[in-house]
Amino acid sequence: MPSVGERQGSTLYSLNRRTKIIATIGPSSEDEHTLAGMIDAGMNVARLNLSHSTLEEGLERFARIRSVAAQRRCEIGILADLPGPKVRLGSFDEVRYLESGATVNLEPGPGHSSGNRFFVDYETLLEDVHLGDRLTIGDGAIVLAITEKTPDGLVAEVLFGGRLQGRPGLHIPSDRLRTTTPTSEDLRLLDAFVEVGVDMVAVSFVRSAHDIRRVGLEPAPRGPLVVAKIETRAAVDNLDGIVMASGGVMVARGDLGAECSIEDLPHLQKDIIARCIALGRPVITATQMLESMVTAPTPTRAEASDVANAVFDGTSAVMLSGETAIGTNPSLVVATMARIAARADQEFDYAGWAHQIKRDRLSEPQGVDSAVTDVMTMAAWRAASEMGVKAILCLSRSGFTVRAIARFRPHAAILAFSPDERTVRQLTMSWGAVPFSIDRMDDLERTLKDALTIARDAGHVRSGDIVAVLGGSSDSTGATDTLRMVRCP
Ligand code: PEP
Repeated sequence: MPSVGERQGSTLYSLNRRTKIIATIGPSSEDEHTLAGMIDAGMNVARLNLSHSTLEEGLERFARIRSVAAQRRCEIGILADLPGPKVRLGSFDEVRYLESGATVNLEPGPGHSSGNRFFVDYETLLEDVHLGDRLTIGDGAIVLAITEKTPDGLVAEVLFGGRLQGRPGLHIPSDRLRTTTPTSEDLRLLDAFVEVGVDMVAVSFVRSAHDIRRVGLEPAPRGPLVVAKIETRAAVDNLDGIVMASGGVMVARGDLGAECSIEDLPHLQKDIIARCIALGRPVITATQMLESMVTAPTPTRAEASDVANAVFDGTSAVMLSGETAIGTNPSLVVATMARIAARADQEFDYAGWAHQIKRDRLSEPQGVDSAVTDVMTMAAWRAASEMGVKAILCLSRSGFTVRAIARFRPHAAILAFSPDERTVRQLTMSWGAVPFSIDRMDDLERTLKDALTIARDAGHVRSGDIVAVLGGSSDSTGATDTLRMVRCP
């Protein structure tokens, strides 16, 4: 079902938006009224950042999002983002401004940070951080240089100062960290969210495909779709293996920007996005997309361009973090992002993209089913483009067919029908997919008839329109082996 934002969007742009919006839910956005406003403004997926809440708060937010989405009769996916071995400073009870040139002491252990004494929740801080190291706080805004080691801690000079609030992250180069992901705390949080039926989980500080396999979930849609956050050097080096082992990927620019040179970041973003799409995985571009809107009513010109350029890079979804979690007007931020993304979708080079994907797509698909789906979705893209059809109807149990056709970024609407509720919600993150629930999928003719009726009633197609239909004709294989061109009754 399309979101209310998509059906009742205040502008023509948001009606036709293909790029999805993920918004982080926090203190500013957790109440029912704000959640409803964000859904109406175009939020497709709600993200719970479990680094900044207790399990109980996270579960309460989860239940509230489900309830508001049901009231508004919208499909909203929920993404639980696991903290991973992220090192944080002990919390600041009040906002603190750190001056450039000041000296601060970093001590391992629990405790509230105050004055110039900051606690760090990383036991082996003294062993793993060396004299001369540069550490960053937050998303790189504050930079410290380690000048001295004492028996109790580290002394650091503040090279670039800034504002400290809450429990900011402290970036230690990931190749120094001894901790692995997922942590035991991640697995505890994961169990609780799997129990309530979360749709997607994001794994932080992934370094190899092995880290993803250690999450140990049932494959989607029986289990949540596992999203690998690319935020370490090692993850960039092992990208293809990680993408293949994951259900989706996030370009986590906050930490990735601290791990690599800032001038490399835009190029890494482009490369990661291109690899994910070639391998048929949805990919999220995250962090500081509309950062100034934490307080301001409009974005900077550079932020508007950043969102549009992520769309041109081919991203499946764009993500909001602090803008909606602690910002002053979460619904306005979502509406602004929806307008910028939808406008950029209009300028997207659909034909050029499809030709590039035909070249870059998985050269040796894993097994016969993947190979069949690969060629059938390519055939569907070609048929839909040459006939200029309005819609491609995908009848899909797991969402695999939908993600495979989305690789080509077709001009036609991708209408995705599944009898599995979790698949429907997982598709909220996939580029262009308008997901619908259907009652059953045991008989292709009957399912097709139901899907056409739903598509027509929702206003995506009209009687007499030719549409492309993609689906599996048999229950026994996972392959998309059927392509038809049918006239809408
Ligand atoms: C990031 O680092 O960009 C990110 C999205 O992760 P987190 O918000 O957990 O720091």
